[in-house]
Amino acid sequence: MNMISAHTPATYEGALPAAVDFAIIGGGIIGLSAALSLKECGFSVAVLEKGRVGGEQSSRNWGWIRKLGRDAAEIPLMIRAGQLWQDMETRVGASIGYREEGIIYLSRNDKEQAARYRHFETAQQFEIPVERLSAAHVEQQIQGLPGYWREGIKSPTDARVEPLLAMPAIARHAKSAGIIIRENCAVRGLEKSAGKISGVICEAGTVRAGAVLLAGGSWTGLFLERYGIRFPQLSVRASVARTRPLPSVYAGCASDPALAFRREENGGYVVALTDHSDFFLGPSAFKNTRLFAKSAWGSRGSLYLKPAAPSGFPDAWTTRRTWRDDQTSPFEKNRVLSPAPWSGLVPQLQKRIAERFPALKDVEIAEAWAGMIDTMPDTVPTIDSVPGMEGLWVASGFSGHGFGIGPAVGEVLANLMQNRETGYDLTRFRFNRFTDGSVIEPGP
Ligand SMILES: Cc1cc2nc3c(=O)[nH]c(=O)nc-3n(C[C@H](O)[C@H](O)[C@H](O)COP(=O)(O)OP(=O)(O)OC[C@H]3O[C@@H](n4cnc5c(N)ncnc54)[C@H](O)[C@@H]3O)c2cc1C
Repeated sequence: MNMISAHTPATYEGALPAAVDFAIIGGGIIGLSAALSLKECGFSVAVLEKGRVGGEQSSRNWGWIRKLGRDAAEIPLMIRAGQLWQDMETRVGASIGYREEGIIYLSRNDKEQAARYRHFETAQQFEIPVERLSAAHVEQQIQGLPGYWREGIKSPTDARVEPLLAMPAIARHAKSAGIIIRENCAVRGLEKSAGKISGVICEAGTVRAGAVLLAGGSWTGLFLERYGIRFPQLSVRASVARTRPLPSVYAGCASDPALAFRREENGGYVVALTDHSDFFLGPSAFKNTRLFAKSAWGSRGSLYLKPAAPSGFPDAWTTRRTWRDDQTSPFEKNRVLSPAPWSGLVPQLQKRIAERFPALKDVEIAEAWAGMIDTMPDTVPTIDSVPGMEGLWVASGFSGHGFGIGPAVGEVLANLMQNRETGYDLTRFRFNRFTDGSVIEPGP
């Protein structure tokens, strides 16, 4: 399984269609899920991806399909997403490494335990199966240093998949279902007629569409800024690694306040530090300081400030904020947002793995990478139409947990874009919540 980068050969190329019922900007899990659900309703759909399908967050994530530790407003959607993932291998006709091995949240002291226990209470409220594990129970399930963890909370129906298997498989299925996918196809802007969005202007031409979905991950704010629309989204760098194959110490996913690990299909572990992410200062950071104050305070101690993002990143100081439709846009200048991982990652991971698993003290890291997590001030996404832009919908800002919930969001979007009832209360995800005077309450 190789990481997807701008050097990965493009799979989906060809002429653009003149018109479709729905055009989708962005071929991540959200764009593809919405495309599949719209296609299943009988519509023509085009997914326009500036780089490679699944190349950004959707293939760089940990692959956790989790119901615990979420904002209560997301849980009904996540329960539905869990069902969709259970059936995903049948739906797409390929193995994606789906395993329902559960997720365990571990703690070492009272303070950590209290924080974990809040997940337990929310889960019970929604009748999600959840187990409280004593130290002895943890030891039965995770072969770590005896006594290292004092307690665990387990969500036995949570699952894992391999994002690097899932994203290509979902895209192949989408194509065979008749969805038009185009890679190397940045959308520079929107076409408007009779006061309504009527298509997308791509680097290779225009595609007319009855409605447009913007599912641009970390690039969504920049895209909307060109139209004078404020979408308060910032991104943080999260670094990850995979080990070489190792004896199994636990078959599912687990995390404590410093280390997260997930068994991989190839017999190694995907590992990450749970107390380190990097935030690059840029123009949007300054514009949105007030809105992000609460969530930044909540992440103090684990968020490391850097003065500037690398050139070409959405919030780099030199990234253009405006351009014309016939000019190269920032989206085609950076085909696949692929940050270098934090330089201190590997030694820290090796140290923390050895502390918890003495048997794995000589662990070798096979590969390290990073992704830019797009976050909103309240750490929940926006799933709504864009005010003042009839025909434009947005689903973005999934704040580090959009992969698992993606398939259900796709279903919701298909209904929303047909002006049908969704069956969910989406108030928490409305577009104008940062401007209508509401108090910002960050999710867990
Ligand atoms: C390290 C890491 C670990 C994570 N772990 C988990 C996890 O375990 N579980 C979980 O649920 N979530 C996790 N997440 C979060 C999850 O990966 C994201 O929330 C989710 O993938 C977002 O999907 P998306 O489709 O919105 O965005 P993306 O996957 O980022 O896709 C957006 C796409 O839009 C394209 N695009 C943008 N602008 C344009 C344009 N103008 N024209 C054409 N194309 C454009 C981009 O190239 C990109 O491919 C993690 C994220 C990271 C980085």
